[in-house]
Amino acid sequence: MSRRRQIYEGKAKILYEGPEPGTIIQYFKDDATAFNAQKKGTINGKGVINNRISEHVFLKLAQIGIPTHFIRRLNMREQLVRQVEIIPLEVVVRNVAAGQLSKRLGIEEGEQLPHTLIEYYLKADELGDPLVAEEHIACFNWAGYEEMQDIASMAIRVNDFMSGMFAAIGIRLIDFKLEFGRLWEEDFSRVILADEISPDNCRLWDMVSGEKLDKDRFRRDLGGEEQAYQEVARRLGLLQGEDDTGPGEVLDMSAHRSRLRQGPGKGKK
Ligand code: C5P
Repeated sequence: MSRRRQIYEGKAKILYEGPEPGTIIQYFKDDATAFNAQKKGTINGKGVINNRISEHVFLKLAQIGIPTHFIRRLNMREQLVRQVEIIPLEVVVRNVAAGQLSKRLGIEEGEQLPHTLIEYYLKADELGDPLVAEEHIACFNWAGYEEMQDIASMAIRVNDFMSGMFAAIGIRLIDFKLEFGRLWEEDFSRVILADEISPDNCRLWDMVSGEKLDKDRFRRDLGGEEQAYQEVARRLGLLQGEDDTGPGEVLDMSAHRSRLRQGPGKGKK
C-alpha cells in the first residue's frame, strides 16, 4: 500500500491527503456507531456499499445542478473528493416523524409531517450534537446568512430529488442528514454538499412492508443490517455487476426474514 498522510479518522470514514492539492480521499469503513459512539459495532461490507450508494446519489445530484465535493470513485472503499472547510452543522431533513423528533416531541414514529422540516445540529461530539436554531448559527457565525440560504435551498432540492429516486424503487425517504462545506476560490467561498449520503445517514423504509432499510437496524438491534444495506444498493441497480462490489452474495430482506423464522443456524447455506 502506498504511503499517504491521514488527515482525520471519523466514526465511519478515514480521510487521506489526495493526489493533487485541494483533493482528499474518503475511505469508507465497516465500523458503525450510534448514540454518539456509545454503541459500537461492525456492519460487514458497509463501507463498500456506502461508497457505491454515495457515489450514485452524488452523481445524480450533480446532474440536477447541486454542487458536491464528489470527484470520482477510486476503488471499492475509496472516493476522491474536493477538500472543503466543513461547516460545523448537521442538516437534518425530515418528511416523516421518527427518531429524535418523535422522542423529543412525542410524535408517533411514521406520522407524515404536514410539511418538510429542516433542523440544524451543531457538530460537537463533546456536547452530543445539540439542536440549534438559526439564531444561534447567526449569533456564533457558524455559517453566514447567504450560506444558510444556500444550505436550506439545497437541502430541499436534495430532499425532492431523493424522495422521488427512492419512491421509484419502493422506498420511503423518512429523513436524512447532510453536511456542507466551503470551497475556497481565492478570497471567495461557495457552499457545496460534502460527506456522504447512504443508509448510515438516511432513514429508509420499505413502502409496502414498512421494513427499515437503514442504520436503525443497528441502532435498535433489529439484525439484518448487512442485508438491508445490500437491498438498498440492489434496488438502486448498483449490485448487478458483482465483481467490484465485494461483499459477496446479495441477500434480500425476505430471505433474511425467512431465515429468522426458521430459527438460529437453520436455512443457512
Ligand atoms: O437521530 P435523528 O432522528 O435526529 O436522525 C435524523 C436523521 O439524521 C436520520 O436519518 C439519521 O440517520 C441522521 N443522522 C446522522 N448522523 C447524526 C444524527 C442523525 O446521520 N449524527
